[in-house]
Amino acid sequence: MFRAIRIHDYGGPEVLKLETLPTPVPGRGEILIRQEAMGVNFIDTYFRKGLYKLPTLPAILGMEGAGVIEAIGADVTDMAPGDRVAYPTALGGYAEVRTIAADRVVPLPPFISSEVAAAVMLRGLTVHALLREVHEVKPGETILVYAAAGGVGLLMCQWGRHLGARVIGVVSTEEKAELARQNGASDILIGHDNLPARVRKLTDGAMVPVVYDSIGKDTFVASLDCLAPRGLMVSYGNASGEVTGVSVGMLATRGSLYLTRPGLTTYIAQRSALLKGTEELFGLIGQGVLSVRIGQRFPLADAADAQRALEARLTTGSTILLP
Ligand code: NDP
Repeated sequence: MFRAIRIHDYGGPEVLKLETLPTPVPGRGEILIRQEAMGVNFIDTYFRKGLYKLPTLPAILGMEGAGVIEAIGADVTDMAPGDRVAYPTALGGYAEVRTIAADRVVPLPPFISSEVAAAVMLRGLTVHALLREVHEVKPGETILVYAAAGGVGLLMCQWGRHLGARVIGVVSTEEKAELARQNGASDILIGHDNLPARVRKLTDGAMVPVVYDSIGKDTFVASLDCLAPRGLMVSYGNASGEVTGVSVGMLATRGSLYLTRPGLTTYIAQRSALLKGTEELFGLIGQGVLSVRIGQRFPLADAADAQRALEARLTTGSTILLP
């Protein structure tokens, strides 16, 4: 038997229930992992609320985790019990053990602990996709990054600086501003009011070539207004709610803008892409370019409190659960 956090219906954090379930047996091409740490990501709250639909209910929430292989199914030839592995995007994460397709996990090098892996796989690969693939950030470029002291945000600041960009971070408090600065943001804007005017001032009227907006509903239009002509709006999250009512004309009248709504799953759909992104991510951690801040650790049983803290904007860096 093992303990996991399941939901039976969509709703607030109170729908997260600690349950004891029979230990699964890995099927063909699968492995069974005993998890040592699990990531808590904003996407988990979208699934809990029903903004993103789950394939079935009840369901174990959580997309990210790390641990040790306990058993392997048929046809798994390149992994063995005892190997340390981690994964970024597979539902079923908030659990002491889980089965998962072997081709969705990556091996962990000795210098990446399970805690760090659970804090960085999903967020770090997202930043890899955003800064290296959705838009290839170039030296000297200015980028606007929301939630700059969050899990994704701190890594964006560090990686953006490493690529030679000027990172303008948006945060809600002085404490978060200080943290984002320490992690590579060159300029900070506190709060979401009058953002285009403040960006205009910071850039001497040029505005920015790319905005990374994880806030969604509350900031979408302001973000478009922060872009230079032919700039790229990367709308990649819904922390304040889903963006609706977008018209194509909004892009034309603001200077022939581009808009994309990327999802990490698409960018790592091929195993080769998962391994390539992970190699770059772990390489930068190994070199000390990226440092992973685990701002909050909660026991698995308190997953609801972890999600409450994330939604109340009380967290910085990554949040993980421990079994
Ligand atoms: P964060 O640690 O960034 O936490 C969310 C932060 O968003 C808060 O701390 C807060 O920072 C900010 N925020 C602004 N407005 C609100 C609001 N109304 N309610 C709650 N928070 C708000 O979370 P993650 O690092 O897990 O994720 C960051 C974003 O990236 C999320 O939107 C997530 O959905 C997105 N994401 C998208 C992926 C993709 O594939 N498209 C993959 C991974 C993440 P502050 O107080 O400073 O404003």
